[in-house]
Amino acid sequence: MNDSDRVACTACGQDWQTWYRVRDDGRVFLLCPECDSVWLPSDDRHERPTTYLNDLFAPQSKLFDAWRLIDECEPSTAE
Ligand SMILES: [Zn+2]
Repeated sequence: MNDSDRVACTACGQDWQTWYRVRDDGRVFLLCPECDSVWLPSDDRHERPTTYLNDLFAPQSKLFDAWRLIDECEPSTAE
């Protein structure tokens, strides 16, 4: 076991922070699939999030669905 231990969402507490990647540009981030909270790799995942999924993308129309642009990926944390 290493430090890939899962961390619960610090915003809603209803799901695990999960690594996702933006398909087009390869950016990776932690996402709570429950409330769309995002922690960037430079963020402290134990702090409350200051970013949400849609914030990762330029202003979009109301029908914009960021979930179409991301894929779950392997943890990218440095050991
Ligand atoms: Zn959450």
